[in-house]
Amino acid sequence: MNSSKAINRVAIIGSGIAGLVCARELESQGVSVDVFEKSRGPSGRMSTRRAQDWSADHGAQYFTARDPRFIEEVQSWLQAGTAAIWEPTLKVYEAKTWRESHSQDIRYVGTPHMNSPGKHLAEGLTIQYESTISQLERRGGKWHLQCSEANEITTPYDFVVLATPAPQASALLKGFDTRATDIAESAQMKACWTMMANFPNQLNVDFDAAFINQEIISWICQNGSKPMRQGSTWTIHGSPNWSQDHVELSKEDAQEQMVQCLTSLGFNCEGGNISMHRWRYASGGLENSIGFLALQDIGLGLCGDWLNGGRVEGAWLSGFNLALALKKI
Ligand SMILES: Cc1cc2nc3c(=O)[nH]c(=O)nc-3n(C[C@H](O)[C@H](O)[C@H](O)COP(=O)(O)OP(=O)(O)OC[C@H]3O[C@@H](n4cnc5c(N)ncnc54)[C@H](O)[C@@H]3O)c2cc1C
Repeated sequence: MNSSKAINRVAIIGSGIAGLVCARELESQGVSVDVFEKSRGPSGRMSTRRAQDWSADHGAQYFTARDPRFIEEVQSWLQAGTAAIWEPTLKVYEAKTWRESHSQDIRYVGTPHMNSPGKHLAEGLTIQYESTISQLERRGGKWHLQCSEANEITTPYDFVVLATPAPQASALLKGFDTRATDIAESAQMKACWTMMANFPNQLNVDFDAAFINQEIISWICQNGSKPMRQGSTWTIHGSPNWSQDHVELSKEDAQEQMVQCLTSLGFNCEGGNISMHRWRYASGGLENSIGFLALQDIGLGLCGDWLNGGRVEGAWLSGFNLALALKKI
């Protein structure tokens, strides 16, 4: 990092995969980084819900790796035991018919949980959890942050990175530079209704996971089929369009509609033990990806999946490339 530009202290908002890799890369360049995260732990949408007697990945289901830099990163996760290859028996339901999937993708999952790679990346970083950044202020060429759970954060920062979904970045950017707000506001993110369920009366399913097309459900997966998981909990995702159109439904009503759909697919949902989760900003983003945004003149950066084609790999590359760009400043 060129110290003449005086980027010595950076605040990163969000400890999803994009914020974490950005933080790690900046620290490896000798920059001092503080990460602020509103949840209790790292990893954002790469997450696992844990209850007393079951657990299920309820955000990202698996990830693929195509870019050589991300392939290298995933290899290091495999070696560290925080990820593994998942080889499910996959089916597709389309035009009311089941068929085998012909997909040849290599699929990876975090082990033992989907947030394990994020926890691995978070090791050694300075992260303040349960810290929702509610306001940004720029005074005297420095950034000052306010946090909902605490008083003003006293450290001034040279550079702020927003590593959150677009609508959450947009809310923080109001009144600042229109180059950033215009981009964040033009992103279209969609919701996802997620059902986690045990169906005691459902027997003999001949697949581990299935892509469901043209229905209100788009994905169904048996968590126990993934490496280092046990149990018979299913994760079922509503389709992006249906979830977005029905984002304001109550959990009970969303569950009822999804159960109806599952029943029509041949599932016996009787006696099911069901838990629902609403992701307000699950997928989507810019129509034309820009990778990341770095506004050197005001010390502001944006990264995350929504700037880079979505998905785990897109998020990782966005955070990584933003950190590399800052190195060149
Ligand atoms: C239901 C679902 C299914 C998915 N399936 C797949 C899949 O199968 N394969 C795949 O590759 N991808 C999948 N994805 C997408 C993948 O999870 C994301 O692309 C990736 O995890 C995004 O990482 P990120 O760092 O950009 O954002 P996030 O993971 O969303 O991280 C942003 C972080 O910012 C925090 N935050 C937000 N606002 C504030 C604030 N004001 N102050 C402090 N912290 C804040 C959030 O709590 C969060 O931890 C799925 C996502 C969902 C929701």
